[in-house]
Amino acid sequence: MGQSFETKIVHNSLKQTENIRSKSTPIYQTSAFTFSSLEELEGFYHGESPYLYTRTGNPNTDELGQAVANLEGAPAGVATSSGISAILAGILSVASTGDHIVAAEDIYGGSHHLLKQELNELGIETTFVSFGDVNEVRSAIQANTKLLYSETVTNPFLRVENIKALVQLGKKYNLYTMVDNTFATPYLLNPYLEGVHLVAHSATKYLGGHSDVTAGVVVGNEELIMKARQKVVNLGCNLSSFEAWLTCRGIKTMALRMERQAYNAQQLAESLSKNSHVKKVYYPTNLSTKGNGAIVTIELSESCDIHRFFSSLGWVTIVPTLAGVETTVSYPLGTSHRALSLEEQQKIGINKQVVRISIGIEEAEDIIKQFEEAIQLSIF
Ligand code: PLP
Repeated sequence: MGQSFETKIVHNSLKQTENIRSKSTPIYQTSAFTFSSLEELEGFYHGESPYLYTRTGNPNTDELGQAVANLEGAPAGVATSSGISAILAGILSVASTGDHIVAAEDIYGGSHHLLKQELNELGIETTFVSFGDVNEVRSAIQANTKLLYSETVTNPFLRVENIKALVQLGKKYNLYTMVDNTFATPYLLNPYLEGVHLVAHSATKYLGGHSDVTAGVVVGNEELIMKARQKVVNLGCNLSSFEAWLTCRGIKTMALRMERQAYNAQQLAESLSKNSHVKKVYYPTNLSTKGNGAIVTIELSESCDIHRFFSSLGWVTIVPTLAGVETTVSYPLGTSHRALSLEEQQKIGINKQVVRISIGIEEAEDIIKQFEEAIQLSIF
């Protein structure tokens, strides 16, 4: 007697997959992998087959981790559920309860919160200092310090970290170093090649590039990434295969996007620096031979009404993220840095007139026109 309809209906998957030579990597949209015998299952634990269960490993997330490692010049990488979990996994691979971190005071607000609040609750203490001053960093180092943490280009004021000095200091005091390379991307900077132990990315930004994924990656040597991977697995910070696949697809065009976006950003920064209603333009010079990145942060003068400015931007939308192909704006005081105390905000320069602009791939002239118009309309 044949199988009943109810049985057949759930056993219709492709039986033969080995000789299907798909041009793009298939999406392994599966929570687990199958075995045909107990011997084969046992073989997994002896390294004879690579995958068991998606939380512990999946071809798409491995492709992403390895792709970013390759671009950074690092031996290994692990993909995570977000940029924040990449930072968390990286930190927990080198620090545990009782350890101390020295971090730059002007990092992304969410990373600041992770260190100040969540890791502090786990017994990992952080001292935040200005990394612009090596003496300040040096004097914050304690007997239990394990890690120096910063960003290659800080959010939102785009201070370019002195990686050489950071690595030197780390070596001198036998400390690990870790940087977030999200804003620069591996297209512009490769801090691992300069001696940084761990490099994290919010792949939600330029790696993905289309504002449709939330993902992270941390890269480093095999030993540290094995530890970071254990944290990802055991804390459940794994990325979904579909989001890993989308990010890998996004990475293929990253060089083209960054080249165009950095060119547009340079044009906009130059134009806004000539506008008398813009008090300050933050845009790096000499970040890399390939460009200075695609974020421009401005501080509008008091002659501009910030509410009017934000509602006069036409096709430029307000979003609390960055790095898509469209030009967008965000408001650090109201989003990324709102959890900081007033004192902390003032110390790094966040105030009500600060606007962070993420430049897209549109025509530079159109972007400039839109911002000049919005500034004009905001004057009161
Ligand atoms: N690092 C930087 C520099 C960021 O700007 C962000 C988010 O904006 C993150 C890390 C956190 O990334 P995610 O939102 O993917 O967790």
